Amino acid sequence: MQNPTNSIKPEWTIIKLLKWTTSYFKSRDIESPRATAEILLAHILELKRIDLYLQYDQPLCAEELSRFKALIKRRVKREPVAYILGFKEFWSMDFAVTKDVLIPRPETEFLVEAGLKLLPEGSMSKQNLTRKRILELGTGSGAVILALASMRPHHLFFASDRAIAAAVQAKQNAERHALHGCVIFFCSDWFGTFGNGKPVFDVIVSNPPYVPSGVIAGLQPEINRYEPISALDGGEDGLSSLRSIVNAAHRHLCREGCLLLEIGHDQKDDILKIIEQSGNYEKVIFTKDYSGYDRIVQMQKKRT
Ligand code: GLN
Repeated sequence: MQNPTNSIKPEWTIIKLLKWTTSYFKSRDIESPRATAEILLAHILELKRIDLYLQYDQPLCAEELSRFKALIKRRVKREPVAYILGFKEFWSMDFAVTKDVLIPRPETEFLVEAGLKLLPEGSMSKQNLTRKRILELGTGSGAVILALASMRPHHLFFASDRAIAAAVQAKQNAERHALHGCVIFFCSDWFGTFGNGKPVFDVIVSNPPYVPSGVIAGLQPEINRYEPISALDGGEDGLSSLRSIVNAAHRHLCREGCLLLEIGHDQKDDILKIIEQSGNYEKVIFTKDYSGYDRIVQMQKKRT
């Protein structure tokens, strides 16, 4: 005969787990505790978040419980949700992300928007359309160049990263979105692998590391314990990569070609100085991000 106590043994249903995990995350100061609990549980059960509520009294089996527990532990150790899930949404596209690449940030979508304004829409059948050449430096997961390529697939896209693992990740993301025919990926430390040939690019775009070295230790543990420091560290003043790019990009830009850069929230004056000192650009335009910071700078190669 069945032991009657078995039937009243508390079961971990979806709703009970959500409640428990939310309060556990809260007690550990995890940002957005409820949403995080929902996202991780939905991931384990391969459900949409809304389905958790439609099936709220469904119990989890032991194997699901133990996998969920493992994810809770990772999050409490401050691993970002994007690395736990293995992907991040950017420009309404899913990008696979590993610890080899920076997690794409919402403000970087402004870099994509600025790029799109420089790339005419059209299709290859339109005879008068000129195909532009666009280069991204430090592509990481490939989010920026792939968002651009998805919107303007008739142009020619190139993207590099100094880290082989990042270039491989970006290429895999291109395949995931069936854009591998539109973008050429390669390894290069900024313009390190380029020769002194004729300038060929109409647009060069980059979100280089721009955080001052001394600031990194004070960032959230999600960032400084898990994200690649090489993608964040902009040297002592945070400007070393921005400076290298500004000082070299004009040699690779066609006539009236544009350089687009993401910068730190307080780097407007510094980047203006670097641009002026280089003397190679005009028509400098800043774009603000969602928080009102000047986040994107666009400059056009000076006509000689
Ligand atoms: N925006 C990122 C951060 O705040 C920094 C990205 C970068 O250095 N390019 O962590």
